[in-house]
Amino acid sequence: MNPYIQYMYSYPHKTAYRPLTGIHFQDYASMLAGKGHGLYLHIPFCQSKCGYCNLFSVTGLCQEAVDRYLDAVECQSGQYQAVLDSVHTEFSELVIGGGTPLFMTENQLEQMFCVLEKHFRYCEGRDLVVETAPNQTTREKLEILKQSGVSRISMGIQSFNDRELLTLERQHDARKAREALELIKDFDFPCVNVDFIYGIPGQTKASLLESLKEVLRFEPEEIFLYPLYVKHGARMEREGIVLEPETAFAQYQTASSFLREEGFYQDSMRRFVRRDMERTFSECGFGTSIGLGCGGRSYLGNLHFCSPYAITRNECLERLRDYEDTENFLEITHGIILSEEEQKRRYVIRHLLIRPGIELGRYRELFGRDVLDDFPVLHEWIKQNFASICEEEKHGDSEPRKYFALTERGLGFSDYLGPQLISPEVAKSMHEWEVAHGQTHDSIPRQSEKL
Ligand code: SF4
Repeated sequence: MNPYIQYMYSYPHKTAYRPLTGIHFQDYASMLAGKGHGLYLHIPFCQSKCGYCNLFSVTGLCQEAVDRYLDAVECQSGQYQAVLDSVHTEFSELVIGGGTPLFMTENQLEQMFCVLEKHFRYCEGRDLVVETAPNQTTREKLEILKQSGVSRISMGIQSFNDRELLTLERQHDARKAREALELIKDFDFPCVNVDFIYGIPGQTKASLLESLKEVLRFEPEEIFLYPLYVKHGARMEREGIVLEPETAFAQYQTASSFLREEGFYQDSMRRFVRRDMERTFSECGFGTSIGLGCGGRSYLGNLHFCSPYAITRNECLERLRDYEDTENFLEITHGIILSEEEQKRRYVIRHLLIRPGIELGRYRELFGRDVLDDFPVLHEWIKQNFASICEEEKHGDSEPRKYFALTERGLGFSDYLGPQLISPEVAKSMHEWEVAHGQTHDSIPRQSEKL
């Protein structure tokens, strides 16, 4: 059994999206009324492409290209604002991701924050999250983030071992990662989260633990552990790198128990939160979120949309040109409309893979049925000790709530269990996309089925 089939961070996958006609942003405005929505801005630029990555990002572009992109973001923001103001939208979270947002110059960063403040309204105490990378983390840029009220910095370190970083074809080395962490510490952001990768060819349990022990010196609030996936079209795939799921899984077990012993609470297969941090839980299956920029995805009820999925550099550049040439951002031309069954699947996937799990009563309230009747495979998972029904502690007179939640063993197999919930229709659309793009094998190539 290979535990690494697919990372289900959202559902359905963008490769299941198709052209749409006759749909306008205004038609969905009422879903964005009032407070509590998410805003995401995608900055699709990187210094160079990491060996495993096929995210929507391009390298080697000049500053003028970034300026053109920001102008298009401003145009999109202005058109959205006209609609959002009519329903008094206030965003509770703003995330700036990529790519590498800090690839931009200081002037460009300031212009970006200016656009985001000018066109959108935010709730008091909003979360403001920015992703960064060690090479782009400078004192001057951090000062801009601090002044703009950034509440969380997310940085991909991946390893403190230079040989492993070279294998991943990351641009930074361990010294640069340490310097960036020292700098970030000086600014005292409320939350710093760092990403690490396991399953890197040549990596051992000992070297992974060394990296984690080193990062603990910087006292991050959250640590994310990602298994290495070599994505379609990524350089490591072309180089014929073979991953070993069995080794990766053993490293995961060692690293996750180490972090739990060090006082971290494990929220999901990937996320470890320091126990003294407040953990908030919000229902994540139906959140409304607007994506700005090329590659930014929007979720408005049963409508999900973004620009068409692209992997190769040429395709990404073409998408960027299309984005910059767009005159009417209110016309939705590519995405998916979820049926009720797909909405159920999304709800289950989004709640199952993160603690506390699926609240049984809430599912019944939303869909009028028991989740175990809708998804008989969940019974199997209980038998196989991947999941269990658990009850929260009783508070006062109210009945304790019951959850369907993954066990510790089940969490480790999240990327094996989650894909089993993909509907045949969505799987078919994803497969058709892969065939049309010359990628007929499974979404994670070159991993043997050893485990
Ligand atoms: S992994 Fe991140 S930094 Fe590396 S190329 Fe992809 S988006 Fe850029």
